[in-house]
Amino acid sequence: MAYLANPSRTMEIVKKYDLSIQKKFGQNFLINEGIIEDIIDAAKITKDDIVLEIGPGIGTLTQYIAESAKQVICVEIDKMLMPILADTLSEYQNVEVINNDILKVNISELIGNRNNGNRVKVVANLPYYITTPIIMKLLEEETIIESITVMIQKEVADRMEEGPGSKDYGALSLAVQYYSKPEIVTKVPPSCFIPQPGVDSAVITLRRYDTPPVEVDDETYMFKLVRAAFNQRRKTLMNGLTHDSTLGLSKEKVSKALDEMGISATIRGEALSLQDFANLSNILCR
Ligand code: SAM
Repeated sequence: MAYLANPSRTMEIVKKYDLSIQKKFGQNFLINEGIIEDIIDAAKITKDDIVLEIGPGIGTLTQYIAESAKQVICVEIDKMLMPILADTLSEYQNVEVINNDILKVNISELIGNRNNGNRVKVVANLPYYITTPIIMKLLEEETIIESITVMIQKEVADRMEEGPGSKDYGALSLAVQYYSKPEIVTKVPPSCFIPQPGVDSAVITLRRYDTPPVEVDDETYMFKLVRAAFNQRRKTLMNGLTHDSTLGLSKEKVSKALDEMGISATIRGEALSLQDFANLSNILCR
């Protein structure tokens, strides 16, 4: 099977199978070989690697991953794509396609059975409608993952990289930066896909830390604080935290903690760094 990463080969497959491209599954197929090569380079795939690909589509990116990796495990939600993938990937003995929703898959179990517990690399052109839940699942639940190299909406990639003070800085930035080191690899225009998405895209690599960059006594509690702080962006940190009923924090307690940290009680959540949230969490947990 010739490479699919160009408009004519992709349209050939669409016509051959009378495929109706599913917007509800975020289907935007890559047609630019240069971008695929950038993804493969950024993921640093070797012949020792097992790669998990989320949403192989018609198999365009999968072909290139299969040539660089030891094994590729793909999870695709759309069952209409199964016969197409069987065709386009028929030459690759090292690819396995699983028809399932990635949000419902126990990834550690899936991979652990195949890789003796060794860590894997995730590579994907993600469906944009569920980028954040997928990334959060990969970061929070799956220590078996070494790195994540994905195509996502450019705006979301920017949020992952931002620090305090930026309008794009928020709960996603803090979660991504707690678990991993993010690096935007390249920006990608809509013309690199069929059909073209209505937004710009970017490839980003998240390299998972063995140990997070800050020490936190209770991660779950810190992320509760983060969510409360950014829930109402315009409020002060004090109001955000004390108005969150699940935290049950009094003004006095928060005020004392901020005082101990040398931070003004009128500060907004978006001015706090990851280290500040870790310190605040550790003080409030004592
Ligand atoms: N990898 C292909 C490419 O680059 O041309 C297709 C990428 S397309 C942006 C996203 C793919 O994810 C589609 O094939 C879509 O059907 C699949 N998908 C959407 N939601 C999914 C989910 N919850 N679990 C697994 N795959 C999903």
